[in-house]
Amino acid sequence: MKKRKPIILENVEIVDAGAEGKAIARVNDKVVFVPYAVPGDVVDIRVTKKRKKYMEGKILSFHKHSDKKITPFCSHFGVCGGCKWQHMSYEDQLYYKQKQVKDNLERIGGIDASNMLPIIGAEQEKYYRNKLDFSFSSKRWIHDGEPSYDDDAPEVKGLGFHIPGFFDKIEDIKHCYLMKDPMNDIRLSVKQFAIENNISFYDYRTNEGYLRGLVIRCSITNDWMINLVIHSEDTTAGEKVLQHLIDTFPQITSAFYTVNMKLNDSFNDLEATHYYGKEWMTEKMDDLIFHVGPLSFYQTNHEQAYKLYKKTKELADLKGDELVYDLYTGTGTIALFVSDKAKKVVGVEYVEEAVIDARKNAKLNGVEDITFIAGDMAKVFNQQFVNEHGKPDVIITDPPRAGMHPDVIQQILDLSPEKIVYVSCNPATQARDIKLLSEKYDVKEIQPVDMFPHTHHVENIALLALKSFKM
Ligand code: SAH
Repeated sequence: MKKRKPIILENVEIVDAGAEGKAIARVNDKVVFVPYAVPGDVVDIRVTKKRKKYMEGKILSFHKHSDKKITPFCSHFGVCGGCKWQHMSYEDQLYYKQKQVKDNLERIGGIDASNMLPIIGAEQEKYYRNKLDFSFSSKRWIHDGEPSYDDDAPEVKGLGFHIPGFFDKIEDIKHCYLMKDPMNDIRLSVKQFAIENNISFYDYRTNEGYLRGLVIRCSITNDWMINLVIHSEDTTAGEKVLQHLIDTFPQITSAFYTVNMKLNDSFNDLEATHYYGKEWMTEKMDDLIFHVGPLSFYQTNHEQAYKLYKKTKELADLKGDELVYDLYTGTGTIALFVSDKAKKVVGVEYVEEAVIDARKNAKLNGVEDITFIAGDMAKVFNQQFVNEHGKPDVIITDPPRAGMHPDVIQQILDLSPEKIVYVSCNPATQARDIKLLSEKYDVKEIQPVDMFPHTHHVENIALLALKSFKM
């Protein structure tokens, strides 16, 4: 078969920073997405994918580097998929996040977003996460220019993050800037202990090897939780690793292990066996406390989640006599956060364990006028649901990246609550949903919030009011 000639685009200026962390160029009215570039760079691009409306490519060479480009602070930048925007100043990152929200709302949502509020940035640009999930690999990613090693030399073992696009490649992390101390020390200590004690690392190709994953979490009250994921029913070596950690790091307040014999890495459906300490971490927000177990979801940037929730509550502007629905409630944090200002709150969530946590947290905080229902939104959120729980005055909704199902949107339109506070982690699907809701609603306020500095991710809150409703 004849090989196709590669398409090379020459002297192309990067003009925007867009979705999925990729930079954007425009060539002959077609959008071209490329990773690891900054607006203002002028580059040659090799096209790797060509579609009707867009292309994807890789940078071959730079003719000019943008004035906006800064030196990334992390030595893993460019390989590890974690913080793809480190080559821009935080100020520029915020500018492009704001722009992403505005462009989506205007282009897809068809609304005028010129009055949107400036994005709420983070004071803490590094060490802001409270949870990291690392993977072990018997064959880590070997960088260009490294010497060759024997197959089972300690130098080829890795504990770190998956490299985007490769299920079996792990970048061995030396220092990660995403979570405070002693996170890095804990990870390095596990790795060293495992090597010294000949405990094997997982091999993604052969599905062999003992150590598979390490989850490190910490709470605002400084609880530290470890969950070690192993690939064997024999837990002896795993317990040895955990005991080593507990003896070395007095900060650790809980330790668990999870046996994962599956072919895939996901373990949230598996039991976490309690090994040491408390069975949960304690989180605190205003007067509320939350118990967070090893499988419970909790927002990973506490400081920014607090700002997001405060703004959500402010926009809901509850007077005390409202029935509020909190759709996609997770472990019920937003529902509980607004509950002191509402007559009653009903939270809906798909993951049953999250609903169990939400109920426990309501009890823990002595909140009574609150109900949590488990089920798939498109199925449970129906007329019968409304007959049972009442017609809501305000709906808060915080769907996953895919946005809301059309049936859920139709049900909201049929119910016509006075206000909808739409919290979103994906401006494109939020804009699509708002377009459908605009049949009956006007957008009154738009507030982006940055939860994840140095990534392209952006959270956005939109307040929608019924056209006939006077605010
Ligand atoms: N509001 C929560 C969590 C939001 S994340 C918080 O701030 O912590 C979105 C949530 O939607 C997740 O908990 C996810 O499990 C849930 N979810 C996803 N698809 C769903 C569906 N089809 N029906 C109900 N809940 C769903």
